[in-house]
Amino acid sequence: MISPETILLVRERTDIVAVIQESVPTLKRKGRVFVGLCPFHKERTPSFQVNQERGFFHCFGCKESGSVLDFVMKHDGLTFPEAVRLLAERGGIEVVEDTGPRTDADRLKKQRDDLFAVNHVAATFFEEQLRAHPHGHYAVDELAHRGIAPDNDAVGAFRIGYAPSGWDGLATYLRAQGVSASAAEQVGLLVPRSGGSGHYDRFRHRLMFAVMDVQGRVVAFSGRALAPVPEEREREGAKHDPPPKYINSPESPIYSKGQSLFGLHQGRQAIRQTERAILVEGNFDVVALHARGMQNVVAPLGTAFTADQAKLLLRFAPYAVFLFDADAAGQKAVRASRDACRKTGLVARVGTLPRDENGVFYKDPDELARARGIGAVEECVARARGMLEHLLEQALDETFAAADAYERAARLEHVGRLLAEEDDPLVRSIAKTHADYLASRLDVVRVAPGREAFRALEQNVRTALRAAPPRPEPRPEPRAPADGRDGREERAREPREPREPRDPVASRLKAAMVGAVLDFPELLADPAMDSHLALLDGHAAQTLAALGRALRAPGAGGRAATGNSRFDAPEFLSEIGALDGGGAGSRLHAFVASRLAAPEMESLEQARQVLEESAARLRKLELERETVETSRYIRERASAWEEEVELAREVAERHRRRLDR
Ligand code: ZN
Repeated sequence: MISPETILLVRERTDIVAVIQESVPTLKRKGRVFVGLCPFHKERTPSFQVNQERGFFHCFGCKESGSVLDFVMKHDGLTFPEAVRLLAERGGIEVVEDTGPRTDADRLKKQRDDLFAVNHVAATFFEEQLRAHPHGHYAVDELAHRGIAPDNDAVGAFRIGYAPSGWDGLATYLRAQGVSASAAEQVGLLVPRSGGSGHYDRFRHRLMFAVMDVQGRVVAFSGRALAPVPEEREREGAKHDPPPKYINSPESPIYSKGQSLFGLHQGRQAIRQTERAILVEGNFDVVALHARGMQNVVAPLGTAFTADQAKLLLRFAPYAVFLFDADAAGQKAVRASRDACRKTGLVARVGTLPRDENGVFYKDPDELARARGIGAVEECVARARGMLEHLLEQALDETFAAADAYERAARLEHVGRLLAEEDDPLVRSIAKTHADYLASRLDVVRVAPGREAFRALEQNVRTALRAAPPRPEPRPEPRAPADGRDGREERAREPREPREPRDPVASRLKAAMVGAVLDFPELLADPAMDSHLALLDGHAAQTLAALGRALRAPGAGGRAATGNSRFDAPEFLSEIGALDGGGAGSRLHAFVASRLAAPEMESLEQARQVLEESAARLRKLELERETVETSRYIRERASAWEEEVELAREVAERHRRRLDR
């Protein structure tokens, strides 16, 4: 354990520009920052910036960011203590070790490291068996069937191997390597025998894929069934059912299914560079596409795509393209993935596999790549549609007319739900137009139930829209104007819910205000700015509160008012990442990180002006929005058109009164 004092000294004494310049010779001063070509992604025009004053770097292309320690860790692939030692040596700083008692955390870490080691030993064994075992050719044949030669880079990258038939090949090997059976049992490689003592191998006569975490440590295995060995089938007789196609490791202290993505470690650089991840269903799809040069591919490991997996992807790219199997199960899995994407903000598109010359859909991306080459898969990705459009088109495709009444009703209900769940009003209205268009196309076909369906759809959509998406807070009844007040002041005093504004203009204005303060934190201490800053809520307000705390922290160069904005930027950023639970991958984090590295305001005066103007526009906008919201509230509750006319008059009246005041 390196002492915290040493770490602090290394942070303070190391010149981030000097260190980075050694690996980024293009780094040149430009105004308040240094700019150069990013070492973490391929680029021709420099988008990599270093802020010397704050000891911080950020890339606008790939969003890598952090302190000088983060840079050395990422660039040289070092652990934190290794990076500290390297920079300490460079700066002639003595490394003081902390020799405190071992904590529970230390023990836990040791335990986990031991389990990683067990998996590593097992992966090595499986790799060897692929080459050496007399039955290893069954696995090699399966790979050849997929067009993957044993010397393809993908075989090594995914640590593909062979788990031998028999019951104790791995168990014997692990014992010889000094690995305890209980550790191997914990990661699910060995299973205790039910009667008596001892263990047997979980994976037998299978093609093995190692499942790795982002850092490349083996956390689990996935084993695919192979063609049976004839003499063994005779010995076992016909009493057994055919084995399941895939067996995966059970969950363990180092593996939980919904939080890992197969292929992320191998594909992370490509995902970063292409800014998108291709999601496929099967491990073989990942490996086969990777082997053919398409490396930004991952699979969700036999589970539905989870929000945790979406967050994991968002650390590398904002977009995902689903290329799931063409069968009903695959398409159901796409529908089930929508929630995870919506919850996390991962922008999802859906590709559809094409048909072959007989009009049959290619089963999966692997099959398509084998038949028509990787170019056909790339085309599929390029043609992918937005998730919502895809789902609408699927519900209202040409099979609609052929479906029976129950199925048609279910599909219409599904369309209504899709529209109602979309909470961006603009997107919802565009999607509704699209659904109307799709339905009208069904009508043009003039199949008997077409017109009926169209009418039903319209009815359905109208109901769905009236039911309005659930709001985080109940809307108060609009107050009738009493004694000359319109109730606005009262509402203004109610506590605001800290939630993200959906209005893009308001978001932009708030971001401009927060940005100005990040560039010149001394604005926080200026009492003239108080009333403007009070307009901020949600993450904007929380960000500035965190900034205030960071500036007051010991060692932060004193109070905000001194104008010296040197503080522990990485610490502050990790707090920002925690605000919306997105960590370093969140949009908020990226925004704050980029402003810390590259301030936009040239002077305090400019920052003050931007803050004031944005605040003024925000005030005006809120007033306008209130009027719109009142009228929408009324519209949503209107049933008959007479009522609507009456209410519209009232809205106009209210609006006029407000302007008069
Ligand atoms: Zn970059």
